[in-house]
Amino acid sequence: PASVVLRNVFRSYGDPSQPIHALRDVSLDLRRREFTAIMGPSGSGKSTLMNVVAGLDDITSGEIWVDGNPIGSLDDEARTVLRRRHIGFVFQSFNLIPTLTAQENINLPFVLAGTRLDAQTRYWIAHLVRSLGLDERLDHLPAELSGGQQQRVAIVRALAMRPTIILADEPTGALDTRTSREVLALLTTAVREYGQGIAMVTHDPVAASYADRVIMLADGQITGEYRGLG
Ligand code: ADP
Ligand code: ADP
Repeated sequence: PASVVLRNVFRSYGDPSQPIHALRDVSLDLRRREFTAIMGPSGSGKSTLMNVVAGLDDITSGEIWVDGNPIGSLDDEARTVLRRRHIGFVFQSFNLIPTLTAQENINLPFVLAGTRLDAQTRYWIAHLVRSLGLDERLDHLPAELSGGQQQRVAIVRALAMRPTIILADEPTGALDTRTSREVLALLTTAVREYGQGIAMVTHDPVAASYADRVIMLADGQITGEYRGLG
């Protein structure tokens, strides 16, 4: 079953008699075990799509469900809880807290969600850290890490909670070609081995080629879907 479902979603701005549609009748399923790339020119609605799935932006009409929860009918507090438990984030700019070590950054979602780091979760995080080669870096601050290492810390942080879906906004945008490939291979592993669902906004056709399917957006509308490139 799909874990994030959008049906006939509109996000409109401006005068209702002459609205600008950031999203125009978007229907889309994002599933666990699936790596979806979202491509489209600047202004096509990619950020808006990520923000409405995250419950950070309201939709004008339509419906969005996250793991069966209709986010439109939840209040702000319930949405925050849903976002913290079910959605992971990976950003172009890594978004690590500069004053926290790698380990503290990884633990942060649990602190924010008020979720106890039980033995099983610690074991899972240690496994992720080891398989991403970050063992030796856990006591370091972000500024003491390379860009690739920072993005790997951000990916461990996103995977640690086992979210339904990871929203990745240009995750390789700040990385060189070789490091980008490593990060993309890592995201693919998360999908194949851990059953993680990922939706990744990218401008880079090479990055998109790692995905199971590519959704094309233009003027807020889905204009194409390509499968099986990854
Ligand atoms: P992308 O991420 O693909 O660059 P966006 O989702 O940022 O696209 O924007 C989609 C459209 O919605 C653009 O036309 C943009 O100008 C418009 N838009 C986004 N946010 C606002 C806002 N707060 N007010 C008015 N228009 C907006
Ligand atoms: P942009 O796409 O404009 O460059 P970002 O990629 O940094 O912006 O962030 C995208 C959206 O995610 C923003 O609306 C931001 O407020 C939100 N955001 C940033 N950090 C977090 C977080 N840790 N948890 C939830 N939402 C976040």
